[in-house]
Amino acid sequence: MPSERPSNEDVIPGNLIGEDGGPAHLALSPEFFWNSGQKLKVPFLNGSPKLQATVRAYAQEWERHANIDFVFVNDGDAEIRVAFNWKNRDPINWSHVGTGANKFVIDKNQPTMNLGSLDDYTREDELCRVILHEFGHALGCVHEHQSPAANFQWDEPVVIADAQKRYGWDEATTRAQILKKKINATAHTNFDPNSIMCYIIPPEWTKDKKGVNMNLALSETDISFIRKMYPFRTRNAGRLSVDPDIRLWYPTIALNSKIIVFDPPYPLPPRIVLGLTLLDEARTTNIRVRLHTPPASERDNKSFTLNMDSWAETDMYNAAATWLEFVQSEVEFEVGEFNTNDDRSWDKLPPVTDDNFRRDVHRFDFPRGKYTEPPGVVVWLNALDMSKDANWRIRAVARNVSAAGFDLAIESWADTVVYSASAAWVAYPRNHPGVLSGKVSSSDYRNWFPPQASNGARLKFDTPFDRPDPKVFIALSELDMDCSRNLPVSWHGDTWADSILYEVGADWVAFG
Ligand SMILES: [Zn+2]
Repeated sequence: MPSERPSNEDVIPGNLIGEDGGPAHLALSPEFFWNSGQKLKVPFLNGSPKLQATVRAYAQEWERHANIDFVFVNDGDAEIRVAFNWKNRDPINWSHVGTGANKFVIDKNQPTMNLGSLDDYTREDELCRVILHEFGHALGCVHEHQSPAANFQWDEPVVIADAQKRYGWDEATTRAQILKKKINATAHTNFDPNSIMCYIIPPEWTKDKKGVNMNLALSETDISFIRKMYPFRTRNAGRLSVDPDIRLWYPTIALNSKIIVFDPPYPLPPRIVLGLTLLDEARTTNIRVRLHTPPASERDNKSFTLNMDSWAETDMYNAAATWLEFVQSEVEFEVGEFNTNDDRSWDKLPPVTDDNFRRDVHRFDFPRGKYTEPPGVVVWLNALDMSKDANWRIRAVARNVSAAGFDLAIESWADTVVYSASAAWVAYPRNHPGVLSGKVSSSDYRNWFPPQASNGARLKFDTPFDRPDPKVFIALSELDMDCSRNLPVSWHGDTWADSILYEVGADWVAFG
């Protein structure tokens, strides 16, 4: 039931629409929104562990679509404080809108959200609806039924009388909470009767008997709106394979490309980091693959072209890539790429070391003062040109990582011949919240990736993210394959047909 707190003198509860109106669908003015990517601490002031766990689970539904992080804590200074039927005398569900929570509730012992109607016996659909709705307010959303685009033919005397009976509201409150439109709104989407921010409107409240049913989930508009207000800063349009995204595996074609559209566009062209996740080539010719895209300075903010090429007589049946997108303002992330062609020609192999390696090493220096401690460095292979006549053994690894820089080594061993290779890298502060990285290899991946029903795999983090779905990006950093068979390998160590895999390694990075 739309039972939220009526107006009162000293606070602006979530069901009140500020007179300053709002610029957009569901929205108050922008200053009511938290910063995208912000961590919002959320302690509970009372309530059973079961009820608290339920709130946490449903609140996190918003986190799937908004770059915001609810951090549920026990106490301390917090942005959002949740109570259940506070002091046993507030049975109404209400929440302050967005940053209003900190503006209007100064007393840190007082809730900014009261889930007054919920207890251990509340039905699941009611729990879901109320928690999603109130956390929508906490994120800055206001009532959809008061959108300027809403076009209810209110039967006002009926609404006022019924709201008095149902919620004990006086006429002013009912006008403020239900009947009044946000007339100063300047931009909005079409009215969305499926929004979780829309009240249930009984048909008899309108002259044309058109009401709104109970909504139990985030609508498509809710999701697209909150994504715009809290955009994820690092996104992935998904993994792209030559087969079947560009062509089928046979007949082979050397040059393969696809335009990846950013939705929504970035303010400026983002930096792109490309990693190879799968390669399937015939053994009869040299192994050749190159993933590439123009540098940010030669791209626009709307899309990028992902190229997955082979050349000469190589038969590339398939290849696949994953990629990271970093906006220019994400200054804490440094990215780069090393292609051995930059330092030597393909036919000048590095000398063999005492430990029987050939190493191409390139030093990268971070901008002065960028990092105060050695950062995490993720390295992905994204181009290979190797002889067919020896086993394919190669790895790319960051060595001597310090706050000042690192050595990117691309190395092979035994009789392997690497004419050229390229690796992309990402560096980030180890203490950066919500970022973890690591390495896996085929020898331990079963521990890291317990099999699942689908062909996906679950990564177990040492430090669990408290977001529901950390985004994991993984690509190849090491190969050790028998050249007498074809080379089909993917990041999780799968091979197929008759190939012989000694080892495959991958670097992963996760954003939570
Ligand atoms: Zn509400």
